[in-house]
Amino acid sequence: MAWRMLRRKDVQAGLVKLAFRTDHGGTKHFSSANLGKLTQFVHSNRLQGAANGTIFQHYTIRNFHAGVYMLAWSRKKEDVVGLKAPKKEKRVKREPRTQAPVEAPYVAPKTKITIKSSPDKIVEIFDGMTLHDLSRRSGAAISALQSILADLGERVESEFDTISIDLAELVAMEIGVNIRRMHTGEGVAEPRPAVVTVMGHVDHGKTSLLDSLRQTSVAAKEAGGITQHIGAFVVEMQSGASITFLDTPGHAAFSAMRARGAAVTDIVVLVVAADDGVMPQTLEAISHAKVANVPIVVAINKCDKSGADPERVRIQLGSEGLLLEDMGGDVQVVEISALSKLGLDKLEEALFLQADMMDLKARTDGPAQAFVVEARVDRGRGPLATAIVKSGTLISGQYIVVGAEWGRIRSLRDTAGKVTESAKPAMPIEIEGLRGLPMAGDDVVVVDSEERARMLSQGRKKKQEKDRLRKIDEDMTEEAEIADETPERVEMPIIVKADVQGSVQAVTDALRSLNSPQVFVNIVHVGVGPVSEHDIDLAQACRAYIVGFNVRNPPSAITQGATQANIKILLHKVIYHLLEEMGRLIVEKAPGTAETQISGEAEVLNIFELKGRSKSKGPDIKIAGCRITDGHFSRSGTMRLLRSGDVVFEGPCASLKREKQDADTLDKGDCGLVIEDCDDFQVGDTIQCLEQVMRKPKFISTQSGAVRIEC
Ligand code: GDP
Repeated sequence: MAWRMLRRKDVQAGLVKLAFRTDHGGTKHFSSANLGKLTQFVHSNRLQGAANGTIFQHYTIRNFHAGVYMLAWSRKKEDVVGLKAPKKEKRVKREPRTQAPVEAPYVAPKTKITIKSSPDKIVEIFDGMTLHDLSRRSGAAISALQSILADLGERVESEFDTISIDLAELVAMEIGVNIRRMHTGEGVAEPRPAVVTVMGHVDHGKTSLLDSLRQTSVAAKEAGGITQHIGAFVVEMQSGASITFLDTPGHAAFSAMRARGAAVTDIVVLVVAADDGVMPQTLEAISHAKVANVPIVVAINKCDKSGADPERVRIQLGSEGLLLEDMGGDVQVVEISALSKLGLDKLEEALFLQADMMDLKARTDGPAQAFVVEARVDRGRGPLATAIVKSGTLISGQYIVVGAEWGRIRSLRDTAGKVTESAKPAMPIEIEGLRGLPMAGDDVVVVDSEERARMLSQGRKKKQEKDRLRKIDEDMTEEAEIADETPERVEMPIIVKADVQGSVQAVTDALRSLNSPQVFVNIVHVGVGPVSEHDIDLAQACRAYIVGFNVRNPPSAITQGATQANIKILLHKVIYHLLEEMGRLIVEKAPGTAETQISGEAEVLNIFELKGRSKSKGPDIKIAGCRITDGHFSRSGTMRLLRSGDVVFEGPCASLKREKQDADTLDKGDCGLVIEDCDDFQVGDTIQCLEQVMRKPKFISTQSGAVRIEC
């Protein structure tokens, strides 16, 4: 039995909804609620609309929201010339629900849609978009979209009817396109605090600076100086204004977040040690900030040290194209000491000034849009995600979808660990109540109901799995292509364990950058927490290396187990150091590339002929009396004969002697040399000895601080 809701707002004063159902015999039954209103229009088996003078016959009711196709469909019986009516949509009969909607599992729509395969295409979706918009952006036919919506239990009659952003995402996932959720800019924008990331070269004091700043944070003040690392903290000025600091220093985390579309950082603090100056990762940080179009405030650190030379740092930064304030530019520079806590107030002032100039504002009304900066599992409280609200207000109790996970916010805690009812823009907040552990950079989306949350989460998981399989497929094709070029590629299985989800992501991404045609970095398992016995078992099963980043040293039972099983555990706190060690191991493990190398060069001084005295002793042999002038000659090498620079013969060495003694290798000096099947020596010729060597790849650390393995 099918129900139709027909809107005829122009027919009567006020909005009139005419509902009727069609039974199997085709008889229409109008709902009793509308019967009174209908009596004005229904005459026996005919229906007339009066207000706009249009006559509706045989239940042909004009839909005033409809586009040309719907109009053509409705006018079909009026023989409209030139408008082609589309085929009637196939309706999917829906069984009445027997369960509460929240319990109903999300069943993927059965509709098979074929649109041009473009897995990297990103379609922008927004609340209130029409089917027409979605069709135009995704390339899928409207009928196909309608059919998916019908499978999802939603009926959209007209291509110009609007749908919610969540529905648009569900439909987009079904047709296999990637989406970017565009959030409304509507609503009153209010000033908001700046979100700051600390970057710079290793050991220049990023962690120390964050530690010192954290001690001045609101959380530390409220908790008597005791703070816990939850991924972000807030520093408040006397004026009441505040700054939010992301508590994960380094570039990998910044890039990983950005790569996932989470552009939360407003300002970058570039830490440069006054005693060390500009280093590769300083330049890398500058490039990251420039690419992301994020302004920089320079903090020249370690100014307490005797060897500190802030002026030199200024000149170096200036020559790298950073327009410093004291050189007429607009990049502020502050001299600090993170260790002695000197100049921190000046740094905070500079950040406020920068934020002021940027006039940062965000909408505070309406549903929140937020990004996860860190996630961890707490034994008692389950998965916890620290998120920063970008716009709107996140309210406790709301249903949310975070990446591919979902949940209902059981509690929101601020950085001081205090339970709060809501979170406003730029406010870091710890969310409790998720069903699974999200990743740093995941978006937080507020949805209307548990059913919608479940559907979106399952749809996203399905899409992720599809993308993962596609990636494996692509990697295999790529590997097959590489295998054609290089004979051998060894695998380097790695297990990554880190303190928080954000670090897991950053370390995994960084390790993957060491992939090369000779060694395939295969991350077999990742996890949050210290190295466990389970990791050792897994490593033993697949001969994997274990990487522990920012985790505590494993107990001796585990290290002993690892040593016995010949498993290497690499513990690091700095990604760059980890990459250096891993790079060395990769180079060792790489089979190398076979290369021909000239190992020595000799000059022909005399030619001797050894006559074959009988047939059984073989033919006459020519011996070249040579002097090795460079490198060495080996008996196993290939000899190349050159005359006036041209190659005249190439063949294996048949004999190599010095003072009538056979030799395997000879360095500089005189020798007698026979080349197989060669009797064309001339005095003055050059002979080169060619040897096959295996060239190992190189671990390259570029000026910008990026690393790679070069084969
Ligand atoms: P990161 O790798 O950039 O996070 O650097 P860290 O914060 O771990 O600091 C590296 C080393 O520099 C540590 O031994 C710190 O104690 C030291 N350090 C950091 N800031 C200062 C400072 O302002 N003055 C001095 N003298 N040492 C510092």
